[in-house]
Order: sequence, then C-alpha cells, then structure tokens
Amino acid sequence: MLASDDQILVIGLGRFGRTLATALVRLGHEVLGVDVSPKVVQACAVDLTHVVQADATDLEALRQLGAGDFGRAAVAIGTDIQASILATYALVDLGVPRIWAKAVTSEHGAILERVGAERVIFPEIEMGERVAHTMVGRTIDYVELDADFVLIETTAPRELSGQTLKEAGLRQRYGVTVVAVKHPGESFTYATPETVVDLGDLMVVAGRRERAEAFASLP
Ligand code: ADP
Repeated sequence: MLASDDQILVIGLGRFGRTLATALVRLGHEVLGVDVSPKVVQACAVDLTHVVQADATDLEALRQLGAGDFGRAAVAIGTDIQASILATYALVDLGVPRIWAKAVTSEHGAILERVGAERVIFPEIEMGERVAHTMVGRTIDYVELDADFVLIETTAPRELSGQTLKEAGLRQRYGVTVVAVKHPGESFTYATPETVVDLGDLMVVAGRRERAEAFASLP
C-alpha cells in the first residue's frame, strides 16, 4: 500500500483503535490498521481494507510498512504503556508529522506529548467527565472545548417557557449563548433573538464552564 498524505495509520486495534479506524473509513479516508495480535488483525479484516500484523515498537517493522510516508497516525495502544510510548517514539523517528495518541493516565499523556504526539486523547477520563455531567441537572451532552469553555446540550429550564431568546436575555443573566434550539419532533435550528423556547425543547448553549454548568442546573 502506497501511503499518501490523506491516508491514515492506526496502530493498536483494540476497542478504541478499531472504532477510530472504522470511523475514519466511513469518513472516506484510506486507513492502514496495525496490530501485534494475528487474531485481532484477522477480526479487523472485515471492517478495514488494509490491516497488517506487526509490532509497532519495532522501528524496522514500521519502516518496512512505509509508516514514515503517512501524514497522520494514531497510536491507540492503551494498556501497554511502554508499547504506546515506544510506538509513538518510532513514528516521530520515522518523520510522521502529525500523531494522535491515546493515554490512560495524565503521566502517560505527558510523556506522549514530550515524545512528540501532537494531540493526546484520554478516552476514559474524558468520557467519565462527560457522563458525570449527564447524570446531574438537565444536561444531555457535554463537550469541553477548552479548559474553561464548554458546549452543553440541555432541556429548556422551566423559567424560559414561552419566551423569545431576546426576552430571556440569557447572555446577560447567565453568561451563556444559545447556539441552537430543537422543538419536539423537529430538527435543531440555529437560535435567533426571535426563537421561542418552550418546556420540552432542547437547547445547545456555549459559555464559560461554571456559568454554563449553573445554567444547566436550573430547575
Ligand atoms: P482498548 O482499551 O481500546 O481495547 P488496548 O490497550 O486494550 O485498548 O488494546 C490495544 C491494542 O493494541 C490491542 O489489540 C493490542 O494487541 C495492540 N497492541 C499492543 N501492543 C502492540 C504493539 N507493540 N504493536 C502493535 N499493536 C499492539
């Protein structure tokens, strides 16, 4: 397989890596999946067109696969921290310019960044945080855009019912900006000052973490 800039290398095809690789294929990218386990490679052959068995901590093996020609790679090995670090290091050594790497602890993540990963993902930590928010208040989904800026999908608070967004003045009162509103049975539409919000509607709001969380916990 000849690598080009829009082809993506995914190393480690466990639950996370396999889902990532399959999603990339669905998004129209050509993906080369690599895993050390022949069993895993065999199982992934159904979803992925290109999948090979190799030890990603072995620089020579990666070189032979043409890993250095890929513009983007993801290291999705989690449990074996040493293998995750060595594989990331090998990709940096081979000159892969953009590397995403999965980490299981913050120390692991810090090392991956030092080694040269552009983006470190903490699936368990991030998902735990996100799910916690859906268990309290009116939050349905929670996305952290920055350490202090979040996007929250929530049901409309009682006090809004029947008001337009202009009348409600949420930016002044709660420091949140309403991005979109969904009336029951309809699709999400962009919010305008004239949008009327009713009980049972869904809203997507953006704002500073504390203010947005406070808004999402109104009754
Ligand atoms: P998940 O929690 O997403 O399933 P795991 O860390 O359990 O993640 O799985 C990672 C995958 O990475 C496994 O399929 C494993 O076989 C693979 N793997 C582990 N070490 C290496 C390595 N040195 N080279 C290539 N793949 C590896």
